[in-house]
Amino acid sequence: MNLESGTDLTPALRIVPRDQHIISRKNISKAALRVLYRLNEAGYAAYLVGGAVRDLLLGVQPKDFDVATDATPDEVKKLFRNCRLIGRRFRLAHVVFGPEIIEVATFRGLGEEGGEGDRHIVDGRIVRDNIWGTIEEDAIRRDFRVNAMYYDISDFSLRDYVGGMRDLHDRVLRLIGDPVVRYQEDPVRMLRAARLAAKLDMRIDATAMAPFESLGPLLADAAPARLFDESLKMFLSGNGLKSFRMLEQCGLLKFLFPATARALKRGDVALRSLVEQGLANTDARIVEGKSVTPAFLFAVLLWGEVRDLASHLIARGEEGNQAWARAAAQVVGEQCQRVAIPRRFTFTMEEIWSLQPRFEQVQRKRVFRLMTHPRFRAAFDFLLLRADESPAMRELGHWWAHAQQLPQDVLAAALPAGGGSAASEPMPTPAARKTRARKRRRKPGEKPGPM
Ligand code: ATP
Ligand code: MG
Repeated sequence: MNLESGTDLTPALRIVPRDQHIISRKNISKAALRVLYRLNEAGYAAYLVGGAVRDLLLGVQPKDFDVATDATPDEVKKLFRNCRLIGRRFRLAHVVFGPEIIEVATFRGLGEEGGEGDRHIVDGRIVRDNIWGTIEEDAIRRDFRVNAMYYDISDFSLRDYVGGMRDLHDRVLRLIGDPVVRYQEDPVRMLRAARLAAKLDMRIDATAMAPFESLGPLLADAAPARLFDESLKMFLSGNGLKSFRMLEQCGLLKFLFPATARALKRGDVALRSLVEQGLANTDARIVEGKSVTPAFLFAVLLWGEVRDLASHLIARGEEGNQAWARAAAQVVGEQCQRVAIPRRFTFTMEEIWSLQPRFEQVQRKRVFRLMTHPRFRAAFDFLLLRADESPAMRELGHWWAHAQQLPQDVLAAALPAGGGSAASEPMPTPAARKTRARKRRRKPGEKPGPM
C-alpha cells in the first residue's frame, strides 16, 4: 500500500509516554482491562486500539473497546473460557463478559488487499484478510489516522504510527494512504468519514473528500446488508441529524438514499423540515433512553418520493389505496437494492404511509378504527411531522392530538356518523366538536353512536 505522497512507506512511530496523554484505566471498561492484562501476562502484545483510543483522547466515552494482539485467534481462545471465534472474512475472537463483548483481533498483515468483491477464496473460506502481520502493518491498513493509535497495557504508553495525535489535535479526518486507493478497496470508508466527522465534530480533509463524487457510485457495489448496518450507525446512534447533514453536504446522500436526495432536490421546504425534525426527534429519544425503530426513520427518509409518486398515480386515474401501495412498493424496492432494510421494517413503513390518508377521514367509525390500529401511534407521530406541508395538515395534527384526549363518548358524539370525508365536508374543529357534543347529549332518547 502506498502512503500519501511525501510520507515514507515505513510508518514513523511516535511513542507518547503515560504522563503525556490523558488516557486513564479508570475510563477503560473492566472487561477490556482483564483481556489486556491476561494477554500481556501470557507473553503476548496487547493493545487497546481504534475508536476507543480515539474517543478516550477526545474525552468521549467509547461505544466499544477493541483489542489488538499478536496472539492468533486460536491462541486467544485458549486463554479465555468465555471466548468464541467469529467471522469468515476477518477471523476474530470475541471475549464475552455478560452483555459486554471485547473484540480481540490479531495484527493483520497487508497482503494484496482487494475490495469486497475481490476477496481471495480458498475452499470457500476467504483467506486473504486472515494474513497475520506486525503492529506496523496493522496500523496502516486501518482507515483514518485517528483510528490507528494503540494504547499499550504493558507501560500505558500510546503508540502513534501515522500522525493520529496531530490530526486529533487539528480535528481533521485524514485517510492513511492514498484516498482513492483506500476507497476503491472499501467504499464504505466514505460513509465512515461522514459519520465520524458528524459524531466527533471533525472536518474531513480536502484530499479525503475530493474523490466522493467520482467514487461514490462504488457504494452501489457494497453489500446492502452492510449498508443497512452502517445506516443504523449513522442515524440511530444519537447523531442522526448531524450525520444526515454531513452526508448531504459531502454529496454522498444520493448514492445511499437516491430517492431522498431526489425528493429534497425538488426544493420542498416542508419535506426538509419533516426529515430534519424526524431525525432530531430520534436523536432526542435516544438521549432520553427511549426506544427507536428503523422503520419510522426510513419511513421519514423515503416519504417525499412515496407521496409524490402516489399523487402522480392518483392524478393519472389510479384508485387511491392501490396508488399508495404501488408507490410504496416501488420506492422501497429501489431503496432495498442499496440498503437492505429487513422485511419486518418495510412492512411497518408501508403501514405508516398507508395510514396517512386515513387521518383525513373523520367519520365516527373510521376514527375509532384508526385509533385502535396497532400502528396508530407511529402513524400519528408521522402526521405531526407533516405539519409544514400545509395549514390544513397542521390543523389535522392538532385535531387528532385533541381527539385522543377526549373521553370516547364525547368524541363519538362529536363525530359525523358517516358520509363524507374531511375533503368533502368541513372537519369539526375541536371547538365545534364540543358544541356539537353538548347539543347532541341534550337530545333525549338518542341511541349511542357505533364505536
Ligand atoms: P465507532 O465505534 O465510534 O462507531 P470506530 O472507529 O471504533 O467507530 P468500528 O467499526 O468500531 O469503528 O471499528 C474499529 C476500528 O477498526 C476503527 O477505529 C478502525 O481502526 C478499524 N476499521 C473499521 N472499519 C474499517 C474499514 N472499513 N477499513 C479500515 N479500517 C477499519
Ligand atoms: Mg468502535
